[in-house]
Amino acid sequence: MKIAIIGSGIAGISAVVNLVNLPNVEITLFEATQKVGGRIFSFQEPITKDFIDNGKHIMVGAYQNFFALLNQLGTYHFLEFQKYLNVKLISKNNCDIFKSGALGKFSQFISLLSMKNLSLKDKIALLNFIKNISHIKSNNKTVAEILLENGQSQNITTNFWEPITLATMNTKIEYASADIFLNILNKVFFSDKNSQKLVFSKIPLLELLNLNNIISKKNLKVLLSKKIEKISQTQESKYMLFTKEEYFGNFDSVIFAIAPLHLFSILKNSKLQIENKIENLKKNLENIKYSPIISLYLWSGNEFMKDDFSGMLGTEFHWIFKEKSRQNFLYTLTKSSAEGIVNRSKQEIIDIAYKDLQSIFKEFQVNKIYYNRLIIEKQATVIISPEMQSMRQEQRLIKGIYISGDWTATDLPATIESAAFSGKKAADFLKYDYQI
Ligand SMILES: Cc1cc2nc3c(=O)[nH]c(=O)nc-3n(C[C@H](O)[C@H](O)[C@H](O)COP(=O)(O)OP(=O)(O)OC[C@H]3O[C@@H](n4cnc5c(N)ncnc54)[C@H](O)[C@@H]3O)c2cc1C
Repeated sequence: MKIAIIGSGIAGISAVVNLVNLPNVEITLFEATQKVGGRIFSFQEPITKDFIDNGKHIMVGAYQNFFALLNQLGTYHFLEFQKYLNVKLISKNNCDIFKSGALGKFSQFISLLSMKNLSLKDKIALLNFIKNISHIKSNNKTVAEILLENGQSQNITTNFWEPITLATMNTKIEYASADIFLNILNKVFFSDKNSQKLVFSKIPLLELLNLNNIISKKNLKVLLSKKIEKISQTQESKYMLFTKEEYFGNFDSVIFAIAPLHLFSILKNSKLQIENKIENLKKNLENIKYSPIISLYLWSGNEFMKDDFSGMLGTEFHWIFKEKSRQNFLYTLTKSSAEGIVNRSKQEIIDIAYKDLQSIFKEFQVNKIYYNRLIIEKQATVIISPEMQSMRQEQRLIKGIYISGDWTATDLPATIESAAFSGKKAADFLKYDYQI
């Protein structure tokens, strides 16, 4: 059977690895750009010669579907796992450490009790909230709404809930879906120690997605620079795919593994016999909103921070990473849900970052920064609001047409793991429909 997979981000690659070893299956992977990886990419910075990513990606030990994918690609061993969850949160006056698993089963609660940014009253309210997670009614509510309804003060929200929501959902608490938020909290507080750990890549992210291990399979064709514009169906129920210049035919089945706006533009140009089934989907796709992420890479001659990774509180930027670079140190600052400053000039954004660093790190010196690189991803992830959560589409549209991508129905935030899981789900639906 001939299968077309459109889009070579994590969702598309996940669909490939979950289908490529089946007998009598021929797969063609279409990618609009000149490289695989989608929203994950890495490149060699031309001046400093360091390899950098389009933004730092944080993973957790619970990313089982993504890890299974890397296992198949043979790159899993390039991941580095924390011994246990260990996150430093630094503010102007204090430094809190949130740990889980270090001191046995209840260590996350012990570390909450020792947080300096929270008063005793805050700590009690926070522990009560966590204890009651499974009873909190989240239906169609935002994170801000359930925090308010469950006695969380502004101080707890700012110093604890906001960083968690931004890091995991790239969405402000006023818009983020409480359903997804509570799923995440269940994992953070009640899953096993290994699922909670943070995981980092030891190599540029794009190299994790190296297809060499599977590209040699005779039944897989990867076609780069092929942007699919339209799909049509023949009388024999085969699918034809069209780029501007050419067409590819006779597919029994198609998996779309692309972002909602790209899916909308293909469906808008196409006439399928399931028009009534996708009417709603098309309307929904048009209304999906995105949230930006800003990453600022700073090359510096001085080591102003001890750790390799830390959260920042009370600042515009949320996370800072430190690596050894060819010349001294490379720091990366990340701002999630960056709507507020995304349209400012490059210099204004850099000035905001310097102000943040000066307020937190005594040893930070602007004159020791000798180079910078700003990367703005305006549509980094979709916003999983309560409305978006309720309209996330299952991967099977009909037998023969499937969709995947971090934004589809996975009950996860729009992340690497959601993308990998959605690709697997699409492949599983296809296998079930065709009994293969
Ligand atoms: C800066 C940044 C930081 C992030 N940080 C994190 C993080 O810390 N942790 C985390 O888990 N996630 C993070 N994410 C999110 C994560 O990168 C995404 O969830 C994931 O990469 C999405 O994969 P995908 O396959 O669903 O979609 P995409 O990566 O968007 O893949 C879609 C692919 O389809 C191709 N395509 C589109 N239209 C067509 C067409 N018509 N024909 C052919 N091909 C087409 C595109 O070129 C692309 O390659 C971050 C994202 C960004 C941008």
